[in-house]
Amino acid sequence: MSILALRPASSSLRMNTIGAALVLLLAGTVLMLIQWVDIRREYTADAQAQARVIASSSAAAVMFGDAEGARETLAPLASVPAVRRAILHDNDSNPIASYPESVAGGPAAMGSPCGFDCAWVSAPVLLRDRQVGVVQLQIDMTRAHARLLGLGIAFCIASLVAYALAYPLMKRMRERVHGAEAQLRYLAHYDPVTRLHNRNAFNAQLESCRARGERMALIQLDLDRFKEVNDKLGHQGGDELLLQVGRRISGALGSEQYLFRLGGDEFALVLVGADAIARVHDTAESILGRFSAPFLVGGLSLGVTASAGISRWPDDAERLEELAANADIAMYCAKREGRNRVAVFEPRLREAQLARIGIRDALGQAIAAGQLELHYQPQVCARTGRLQGAEALLRWTHPELGTVPPSTFIPIAEEGSLIIELGRWVIAEACRQIAAWHGQGLGHVRLAVNLSMRQTRDEALPGFIDEVLDATGVPARCLELEVTESVLMEDTDLAVSQLARLRARGLQLAIDDFGTGYSSMAYLRRLPIDKLKIDMAFVQAVPGEGEAIATAILAMARAFGLSVVAEGVETAEQRDFFRHAGCQQLQGYFIGRALPAGTFASEWLEYPAGKEGLSVPSWDALPLAPR
Ligand code: C2E
Ligand code: MG
Ligand code: MG
Repeated sequence: MSILALRPASSSLRMNTIGAALVLLLAGTVLMLIQWVDIRREYTADAQAQARVIASSSAAAVMFGDAEGARETLAPLASVPAVRRAILHDNDSNPIASYPESVAGGPAAMGSPCGFDCAWVSAPVLLRDRQVGVVQLQIDMTRAHARLLGLGIAFCIASLVAYALAYPLMKRMRERVHGAEAQLRYLAHYDPVTRLHNRNAFNAQLESCRARGERMALIQLDLDRFKEVNDKLGHQGGDELLLQVGRRISGALGSEQYLFRLGGDEFALVLVGADAIARVHDTAESILGRFSAPFLVGGLSLGVTASAGISRWPDDAERLEELAANADIAMYCAKREGRNRVAVFEPRLREAQLARIGIRDALGQAIAAGQLELHYQPQVCARTGRLQGAEALLRWTHPELGTVPPSTFIPIAEEGSLIIELGRWVIAEACRQIAAWHGQGLGHVRLAVNLSMRQTRDEALPGFIDEVLDATGVPARCLELEVTESVLMEDTDLAVSQLARLRARGLQLAIDDFGTGYSSMAYLRRLPIDKLKIDMAFVQAVPGEGEAIATAILAMARAFGLSVVAEGVETAEQRDFFRHAGCQQLQGYFIGRALPAGTFASEWLEYPAGKEGLSVPSWDALPLAPR
C-alpha cells in the first residue's frame, strides 16, 4: 500500500549548519578587513605626525641644501622602530638626506614602492607657507600584521569554542527533530489509539485504487452506543475498547482487505479484487459476528455491537467522496433499523436521507412559524369511564409537506439537539393549556407528555420544568412524563437520577410502550415510576395471545404498587378485557382520538362524567371482576 512520505527535515538542517558556517566565515572576513583598515590608519596617522615634525624642523636645511643639517633632523628616527626608512628631498626630487645613511644606493634608492609589509607617508617641507621640499617615511607594517594575525587567531579560536559548545546542542536538537519527524510521519498515516491506518491513509488508498482503475467495495463500521461506553468508562476505557475492536476486526481480515480507523468509533474496510468484492456482505456479517463475545475493558465485561454500511466503486458512486458518503448513508440506515446489522447502499437511501435533511431543516423553523400544535387523547378510568387525564401528542402541519406524523419527525429531531427545543415547547404548551382550562373553570386536567431519550439526558430539564410550573401555576401532580423503557435502560444512572428529582417534585412518571423492552422485575423495582402503559401491540392482541401477557404485566404492576394504562384500546372487547383484568386506565381510539384543545374541551371537559356513549351508567352496568 502506498504511504505518502514527508520530505525529511534533516537535510534542511544540514544545509542550515553549512549556511551558518559560511555566514560566520563571511562575518569573520568582514571583521578582519575592518580591523586591517583601522590598524593601518592608526599606524599611518602616527607616522604622518612624525613626518610633519621632521618637515617643520628641516625647512632651513632643505632650503639651503644643507645635507649635514638635514641628516641631523632625521637622526631622532633611530628611536622610532616603526619607521624603517626616511628621505628628505627638495621640490625637484633631489635627495638631500636619508635615514639610515647606510641604505644601499644612497638616498636616491629610497623612494621606490615597498612590499605588503610596509607603507609610505609623506609631509611637505614648508618655509613661510611655501613648499621647499618633501619628507617621506617608510613605515614597517609587520607589527600591524602581527596584531591582525593575533586578532584572526582569537576569532578562529572563539568560533571553534562556540562551535564545540553548540555542536552537542545542535546534535541533540537534530535528534529531537528526527524523532518528531518520525512521529509526524507515523501520525500522518496511523491512528495512535488503535495503531491502524488513519483517514489520510484511507483517502490515499482509495485514490491509488481509483488511479489504477481498480474496483473496490467499502464497509463503513460504527460502534453502537459508543458514547455511553465513553461516558461510563472515561476516554481511557473508550480508547481501550477501540484498540480491542481494531484487533478483533484485523484478526478476521484476508488478503486485499485493508482496515482503517476513520476517527471516533468509525472504522472502514476497503476490499479490492473481484473475489473480495463479491464476498463483501459475508465479510461485513462475519465482522459483526466477531462482536458476539463481550469485550473486557477496565475489569468490566462489555457487550458491544456495531452497524455496517456497504457501498461499491464505481457501481454506487462516480466520485470517491460519494463512495464514503454512500457507505455512511447505508450505515446510518442500519442504525435506524435497530443497529447491530449490515445495510447495503441503494439510491433510494440517499433520497430518503435528503428528505430527512429537508424535514429536519423545516422542523427547525416549525416552532417559530407556529406550525406545531398539541392534540389531547383522553385517558379514562377503566371502572367508571370517567376522564382522568389526557396524553399530549405533538402535531406538525407544514404548509407544503402537509401533516407530518410524529413517527416521522420525532426520530429526525432525536438525531440532533432539536428534540430538546421541541420537547421544551411541548412541556410549556401542555402547562399553558392546563392553566388555560383551569382559568375557564374546567378544573385542573392532568396531562401526560412524552419525553425522548435526549431530553432525559438534558441536565437542565428539571430546572426548566420547575420554571414552567412556577410560571403557569400548574400543580406538579397535573404533569405526567412518559418515557420508554429503552430510555431508562440505555442511560440508567443519569436518567434515573433526573427522573427521581422530578418525581420528588411531585410529577407522575409513566413507562410508555411497556413490554417491548427489557421488562425486568428487578429493574422495575429500582425505577422511580408510578405507572406502566402496556404497549399497544399487546392490547391489540386481545383477544388472543395478548391476554396472557397483559395479565402477567398487571400482576407484576400490582406487586410493585404501580397503576396500569392499556393504550391502543380499539374495541369494546379489549375495553372489557382490561376492565375485568384490573387495569386502572384505558386510552385508545375506542375511547377517543387525540383532539385539538378546543374540541377536546368541548367533547371531554364539559362532560366530566365521561363522553356520551361511554357514560358512567353504561360503564357501571358492565360487570367487573373482583380486585
Ligand atoms: P405514544 O407515546 O405511544 O403515543 C401513542 C400513539 O398511539 C399516538 O400516535 C396515538 O395517536 C396512537 N394511538 C392512540 N390510540 C390508538 C389506537 O387505539 N390505535 C392506534 N393504532 N393508535 C393509537 P402518534 O400521536 O402518532 O404518536 C406516535 C408516537 O410519537 C408517540 O407514541 C410518541 O412516542 C411520539 N410522540 C408524539 N408526540 C410526542 C412528543 O410530544 N414528544 C415526543 N418525544 N414524542 C412524541
Ligand atoms: Mg406516549
Ligand atoms: Mg405508547
